[in-house]
Amino acid sequence: MPFSSLGLSEPLLRAVADKDYETPTPIQLQAIPAVLRGGDVWASAETGSGKTAAFVLPILQRLSAGPRVAPRPVRALILVPTRELAAQIGESIRGYGHRLPVQLKTQIVFGGVSINPQMMALRGGADIVVATPGRLLDLIDHNALRLSAVETLVLDEADRLFNLGFADELARILALLPARRQNLLFSATFPPAVFALANALLREPVRIEVAPTLPPAGKAAILQRAIEVDKPRRTQLLRHLIEENKWSQMLVFVATKYHTSHVAEKLRKAGIRAESFHGELSQGARTANLAAFKDGRIQVLVATDVASRGIDIAQLPVVVNYDLPRSATDYTHRIGRTGRAGETGTAISFISADTDAHFRLIEKRHGLHLDREQIVGFEPEELPLPPPADPTGGLKGKRPNKKDKLRALAAVARQTATRL
Ligand code: AMP
Repeated sequence: MPFSSLGLSEPLLRAVADKDYETPTPIQLQAIPAVLRGGDVWASAETGSGKTAAFVLPILQRLSAGPRVAPRPVRALILVPTRELAAQIGESIRGYGHRLPVQLKTQIVFGGVSINPQMMALRGGADIVVATPGRLLDLIDHNALRLSAVETLVLDEADRLFNLGFADELARILALLPARRQNLLFSATFPPAVFALANALLREPVRIEVAPTLPPAGKAAILQRAIEVDKPRRTQLLRHLIEENKWSQMLVFVATKYHTSHVAEKLRKAGIRAESFHGELSQGARTANLAAFKDGRIQVLVATDVASRGIDIAQLPVVVNYDLPRSATDYTHRIGRTGRAGETGTAISFISADTDAHFRLIEKRHGLHLDREQIVGFEPEELPLPPPADPTGGLKGKRPNKKDKLRALAAVARQTATRL
């Protein structure tokens, strides 16, 4: 079905055509008409599904049809868990809205940077606010904006809003919104807290379930590889692979902030344009590194899991797990940074003697088995650790119970446990 059948206005259809999208993604097919009708939406969808356009396009259409008053009241509020996602949605709104005859004002607000410029920017109001919850409340406390005229509320990546501890802030914000409004809730997963919120918030929602683009076993667009290498030789192998394969860009995941700088530094010494990306860089450095990566000035971004969710970099060809992720879910999110929107990508995991067992657990969770590869000149010399000692002490007939298995799992997790 083409975009033109969804009820979108001409300027929005032209903006979509500018982006060379051929057909709507499944979530766009279902969500756009529902949002245009003004109803609530309960969508289970991940980044990569095209969910941003699924809510941005119809919101732009509804807002551009409404009355214009000054100062502009906030009519659409989009709540997101991270500053990166806020900035990304802001860019999408600009991209999809640039052909509209009325220019809607969008303001992005997030913490970690000075509040004053955001307060100044909100003078005269804004039609759309994209915000992280904490900073939004700070701005409300400073009387910089009010939420009493919000017509549409979007909760994007609702599960992460909870994971990041924003439940109290969300409750405060919801209490400030008018009772009559449209609610759109997007979440990759529905743990009990998000499920309860969705039930409490949404009125007769259109429920949309988009089969996840992952799990990885079913994701043909991502070629997954597991390469065995001794731990101390991983950076050399990385350099070798970059040079051999002439990869233009890659995202490399490591376990700690310290490692991001360390690996990036070593790559730079080898003449590769590499930078680090982690949660404790200043906001300025994070934004600058991400922008430089997106426009190709940085070839390798060495990151912690902070970059594994939500960040969309068009056509990222390669992701490398230099250190393995802690969980099967993190694995999914990391490798989902490649093979985006129909492109093909490669996800490589480095496997060392002490992480072999952990990777097997990840494979098992995904019903996956990857053949282990070795690269000539980098064949490992260390042997994988033997499996954990038989907890039954070899007693016939007594198999490890659930607790034993959990203990064994915890032991493996401890071995690989790292802080972001
Ligand atoms: P999202 O899930 O919103 O983060 O979008 C993921 C990526 O898909 C973004 O790079 C979008 O530009 C792209 N995209 C969104 N809709 C479409 C579409 N209908 N066809 C092709 N690409 C799309």
